[in-house]
Amino acid sequence: MLDINKIREDFPILKQKVNGKPLVYFDNAATAQKPKVVEDAIVEYYETINANIHRGVHTLSQLATDAYEESRQKIKAHLNAKEDREIIFTAGTTFGINLVANGFGALLKEGDEIIISAMEHHSNIVPWQFACERSGATLKVIPMNQNGELLMDEYDKLLSKNTKVVAVNHISNALGTINPIEYIIKKAHEVGAAVLIDGAQATPHIKPDVQALDCDFYVFSGHKVCGPTGTGVLYGKEEWLNQLPPYQGGGEMIKTVTFEKTTYACLPHKFEAGTPNIAGGIVLGYALDYMNEIGFDNIAAYEHELLVYGTEKLLEIEGVKIIGTAKEKASVISFNIDGIHPYDIGVIVDKLGVAVRTGHHCTQPIMDFFGIPGTIRASFSFYNTKEEIDTFIAAVKKAKMMLS
Ligand SMILES: *Cc1c(COP(=O)(O)O)cnc(C)c1O
Repeated sequence: MLDINKIREDFPILKQKVNGKPLVYFDNAATAQKPKVVEDAIVEYYETINANIHRGVHTLSQLATDAYEESRQKIKAHLNAKEDREIIFTAGTTFGINLVANGFGALLKEGDEIIISAMEHHSNIVPWQFACERSGATLKVIPMNQNGELLMDEYDKLLSKNTKVVAVNHISNALGTINPIEYIIKKAHEVGAAVLIDGAQATPHIKPDVQALDCDFYVFSGHKVCGPTGTGVLYGKEEWLNQLPPYQGGGEMIKTVTFEKTTYACLPHKFEAGTPNIAGGIVLGYALDYMNEIGFDNIAAYEHELLVYGTEKLLEIEGVKIIGTAKEKASVISFNIDGIHPYDIGVIVDKLGVAVRTGHHCTQPIMDFFGIPGTIRASFSFYNTKEEIDTFIAAVKKAKMMLS
């Protein structure tokens, strides 16, 4: 359905050779490549309307402000949020989660409980540990099974009137598991808890509808959806964003300042202190336009084909064990080969032009659960091909031969 060759033309970096071999980029779960429209839009911004926003009366400042706010509206439409002011520009997922967790650190008290899951990225663990240390709240963890699926009956048991926040990822970056967030959100709301969804790994594959999901917060990173690094979005329901205290103090986030007392600006500015990544925020809107033009249904269907093909081919190699075999999976394959350290495979396949991730993928508790030091992770995007998977499989076979 998708014309992949035409799509690949949009990504100049994919034409590159690495170590003398055509680049096969399978590290999309770490960051996505950028289409030419995104690169061009960055240059165009700096060449035509660069100015600080929300402040100046001069023309460039107004043009930059309009472009920035237009991007906020695009993001609002993309997520199907109710209001523009529920969209906060951030530096990325990590920033967004820290903003929310820091706020709850101030609101919670001893006896309160925060629930996360056994398959969270460190950025959805550590900020909640900070919040617990600060407030005296307790952290609880939804366990998973050997396939890398969260145990919903255990989750039900963890929920109580003490549960104040549930924070889970939509899709696991290390296992590829698509989590049942609809159920998680519904159950959390039954006990009155707020729910934060870490959408960093889901947004490259799925268009989330925050109103249908009814989540209280949804965060993602621009760089994983073909946008620039240092950009991101925090969606929050207005009533929650009003309750949380500001995260950073500075310009833009105030209404009035005296040395005695400062009053805060309204949403979204309350959470947008200082000069933001203006170009990045604007261009993130272009990146989402680009992906929407291809269509998330097309993207998900094609990536699923790559997942099935890659899984099948990989399992033909003797000694391969896939980590993360959930029924519902995105196009992420984590695996190990008997008796070989993942790092060694990564180094050799890189020599053959193939970029994969090796290590713990910022999810050490998952590695501990499976009793492994790390995995090799191949993650596919809509611009990857089955031919690239063949190259990757040949590279893994060669590496295995050299190492065993
Ligand atoms: C990438 C990722 C993060 C962290 O995103 P940053 O862009 O590094 O802030 C958090 N959670 C998941 C699931 C991720 O994949």
